Amino acid sequence: MKMNELKAKVRHGGNFSMVQLGAWKELKQYKMTKPVKSRGKVFLKELLNLTSMEVSMNWFPAGVSMPFYHKHQENEELYIFVKGKGQFFIDGEHIDIKEGSIVRVGLEGVRAWRNHSQEDLYFIVIQAKSETLSSCGIKDGVPIEGEVTWQSGNELI
Ligand code: ZN
Repeated sequence: MKMNELKAKVRHGGNFSMVQLGAWKELKQYKMTKPVKSRGKVFLKELLNLTSMEVSMNWFPAGVSMPFYHKHQENEELYIFVKGKGQFFIDGEHIDIKEGSIVRVGLEGVRAWRNHSQEDLYFIVIQAKSETLSSCGIKDGVPIEGEVTWQSGNELI
């Protein structure tokens, strides 16, 4: 995706990057022309310099179906449905999904989805290289000494 086509504001700090995309219902304003023409889908890897995952924020309008099945070569995928409802196809099974449904799909899983409802469907997709996670969750965190203090916040971006 060419970032200049994305009107979202991005900020990079020493050890962080952030973007403000707006509310879920505003996702549909974002358009992508490469590698495929798409609307309402924002990939975060390039925007935020992610190094171990690709994440996309997705709007899928009412009445729309994925026009093809796909699987992956290296990355497992996690679909987190945050609003709306629809159907997920995986390995021949049709599964109803809705807000709160989370689907992990391994490399060989043949997948597609559709929004056969009357409302918008919103979801997050995380891609990460399969079988590579060696340290995660609380075990990967390291406590830093010192009291946590707060002050009034700066503008996010
Ligand atoms: Zn995929």
